[in-house]
Amino acid sequence: MIQTVDAIEIWTAEVDFIVVGYGIAGVCGAIEARAGGLSVLVLERSSGCSGSSAMASGHFYLGGGTAVQTACGFADSAQALTDYLAAVTDAPERDKIEAFAAGSVELFDWLEACGVPFDRSYFPTKAVIQEGRECLIWTGNERVWPFCDQAQPAPRGHKVAWDGKDGAGGLAMRRLVAHAGQIGVDARYDVQVDSLVMQDGQVIGVGANHFGERLYFRAKHGVLLAGGGFGRNPAMMARHLARFAGVTILGGEHDDGGVIQLGEAAGGTTAHMNGMLVTSPIYPPEQLVQGILVNCAGRRFVTEDSYHTRTSLAIIEQPEGIAYLIVDSATFAYPDWYQQANQSLIDGFETIAEMEARLAISDGAMQATMAEYNRQAAAGEDPAFGKHPDWLKPLDEGPWAAFDFSFGRAGFNGFTLGGLRISVHAEVLDGRDKPIPGLYAAGACASMLAHDANNYASGISLAGGAFFGRQAAHHARA
Ligand SMILES: Cc1cc2nc3c(=O)[nH]c(=O)nc-3n(C[C@H](O)[C@H](O)[C@H](O)COP(=O)(O)OP(=O)(O)OC[C@H]3O[C@@H](n4cnc5c(N)ncnc54)[C@H](O)[C@@H]3O)c2cc1C
Repeated sequence: MIQTVDAIEIWTAEVDFIVVGYGIAGVCGAIEARAGGLSVLVLERSSGCSGSSAMASGHFYLGGGTAVQTACGFADSAQALTDYLAAVTDAPERDKIEAFAAGSVELFDWLEACGVPFDRSYFPTKAVIQEGRECLIWTGNERVWPFCDQAQPAPRGHKVAWDGKDGAGGLAMRRLVAHAGQIGVDARYDVQVDSLVMQDGQVIGVGANHFGERLYFRAKHGVLLAGGGFGRNPAMMARHLARFAGVTILGGEHDDGGVIQLGEAAGGTTAHMNGMLVTSPIYPPEQLVQGILVNCAGRRFVTEDSYHTRTSLAIIEQPEGIAYLIVDSATFAYPDWYQQANQSLIDGFETIAEMEARLAISDGAMQATMAEYNRQAAAGEDPAFGKHPDWLKPLDEGPWAAFDFSFGRAGFNGFTLGGLRISVHAEVLDGRDKPIPGLYAAGACASMLAHDANNYASGISLAGGAFFGRQAAHHARA
């Protein structure tokens, strides 16, 4: 995995900046480096751009007063974005959060200037992804208690203008890769980087395989690792994320953790490898947020208006992962993910007592939960979990229904969030917090802003990858 420079007889090519992997982090790093005057070579293992970015729903989490936020009448500030990201994150890395927040408006403008289209429109409904091209949506826990008390809420999910639930990430990638080509970024496909070349503790190039041929590329200003996550590496998954065994892995086929291992071989360290985005969304339709989730003891455990990944993580953490969504006849609807995620309708019930017996919840526990919830909802209050009054409605119109959202019975999807520890400049850090000279990482192979489903917001991966990919390029050309 590591080769010393004297082992290399011939360099295939020599450039200023090498990017490993052509996803969102790689393309944004490549464009920024080229625009800054560096010669740039992207090495991509597949025959095209087929990583997770190209499959993404196309939300970019951006704020601070972007053109879309302003056009749609939402006030936001870098401080509010910083406060929010810090509030939702355990042990927040403030320097990275503050830099991201301060650069967020500029990143939005830059993406548009590179050809990524965003409509000036707002999508008010609680959904996982818009079906149409409307742009601005609430994609995190901004309005969810207690975070709404800790940071001024604003919608920050910016969907790329694209009609359809799938395809917006692909459009963004096509536009960015086309732009990169126009400004002179060189890309070689079917080239798998499998080693880093080091000299005196500095990364000065990479070794790669191209259909059995050995290639060596020298980089004068550094190497950016942008090769995606590790969800397709069973050994790494078993080591770091065993508690999520059974989650269907989303993402690129080359998410094998290979570039994380390359970074480690060079002395880099990892962070948050046990963090994962997991989801089995309870909404849309949004009326289901008015229902309640209970565990095997018949108790609520999370506010149901949380961002769907926070709710999903809370479900997994319940005893035996058991959770039921309870609705009354006024709130009943089939969840959109009902069939896809096997969120089965257990049955309809004339009484709560009947439901309680069928769910094997001890006598009276569900009835007590429902009675208390209904009494407080009627008063517009939820003292235990702080559900927003917009979603509070007594569930008192029988018959009632229960959906099974239990982990292991309902389907959960996910992707990894941990990776190489990086500085605010995307430098890979060693065990003493020292940057490894010449080595950068961004995107899903790096630990950026979100660490688990609690602090994730849809769009934070694409925006974080774009931001830290560009940070690496800035630093490399300085
Ligand atoms: C279905 C789906 C929807 C999503 N929707 C969103 C969303 O709307 N918003 C959001 O923020 N996030 C979303 N995500 C997450 C997000 O897409 C990813 O976290 C992000 O795209 C990762 O970008 P990346 O540049 O790190 O990696 P990728 O886009 O996966 O690119 C990595 C590239 O590196 C290449 N590669 C790997 N190893 C090597 C090697 N050794 N040598 C050369 N090349 C290599 C791969 O082939 C790949 O092309 C979604 C994910 C999925 C799966």
